[in-house]
Amino acid sequence: MTLGDVLRARIARNGPIGLSEFMAECLLHPTLGYYTTRDPLGAAGDFVTAPEISQMFGELLGLALAQAWHDQGRPARFTLAEPGPGRGTLMADALRAARAVPGFADAAQLTLIEASPALRARQAETLRDHAPRWIESFSDLPRQPLFLVANEFLDALPMRQFVRAGPAWRERHVGLQDGNLVFGLGPALPQPALQARHDDTRDGDLVEHCPALAPIAETIGARIRDHGGAAVIVDYGDWRSLGDTLQALSGHARVDPLADPGSADLTAHVDFEALALAAPCAHSRLTPQGVFLERLGITARARNLAARLTGTAQAELIAAHRRLTHPDEMGNLFKVIGLYPEGAAPPPGLIP
Ligand code: SAH
Repeated sequence: MTLGDVLRARIARNGPIGLSEFMAECLLHPTLGYYTTRDPLGAAGDFVTAPEISQMFGELLGLALAQAWHDQGRPARFTLAEPGPGRGTLMADALRAARAVPGFADAAQLTLIEASPALRARQAETLRDHAPRWIESFSDLPRQPLFLVANEFLDALPMRQFVRAGPAWRERHVGLQDGNLVFGLGPALPQPALQARHDDTRDGDLVEHCPALAPIAETIGARIRDHGGAAVIVDYGDWRSLGDTLQALSGHARVDPLADPGSADLTAHVDFEALALAAPCAHSRLTPQGVFLERLGITARARNLAARLTGTAQAELIAAHRRLTHPDEMGNLFKVIGLYPEGAAPPPGLIP
């Protein structure tokens, strides 16, 4: 039985399901979900992320967090957290680079949030020297200073889509037609959560809303407000998005999200305004990834690494630098936001 069979049977029985239920099942169904069943990263997988492109990404993020820790008086014990750590590559690179900052690693309690058993096993292997522990949800984050990094985590959270219909909204759902999964629209209903979008939308416009985003931002922000710390969050998206950003990727190519549920990665752009508004602490300006990495000195780091390489390895490093920073590659599509205590300095590379 495929996940497609499971969903078709459910829809035939109970009627259409919302897009967030569809996304949640595709990504995290306990036995047939995309993330539950595989390690999708890397050249042989479905997509490549920044930390898998080059060690420079994790190194610079690690040094930025270590500097923020230093700037806040080097708390003797803190949570070093990463949700959705993938293969653990970013955190391994971060901790290796942060060895240059005395005391940081000893004070850190490495805490990961990961829904996929396959990837948890991979993280345990990559990070075995750093005694990681896994927590089930953000509310389990200890009440102590929190330094958190996340890359391409929030884009995997299930979201809902709504089409404007006068003063109301029609939710986009997944139904059945001639035995096939198809997108459809539910009845026009009021949506208090979308009140702010009445100002910047017209009839027929589609907006997205990720219900899990605000509670996560609220919890992270509350730890930072109450105990100190900082978060550096990197993802696709913009301050406020308009239109359908649901994307399915398989084998590095875009595919139809309804074609074979559970076999492709599903993502949506992150609504950084919603994140910033929900976090009860200060937030930085939303900054393009390329600008952020340049400010942290990626070009100097790349030159330094390249000087020690020759031939293909050197060419690959130069290509990786371009891929991470150039506006035509990941430099502009990906954005970075920092969360930090009111009155403190934002994490390096970010401005208030
Ligand atoms: N940060 C990594 C991996 C990004 S892929 C990198 O940059 O390479 C998304 C990651 O989030 C995977 O580890 C996936 O298993 C995890 N994930 C997706 N949805 C999740 C959820 N609801 N809770 C916890 N982890 C989740």
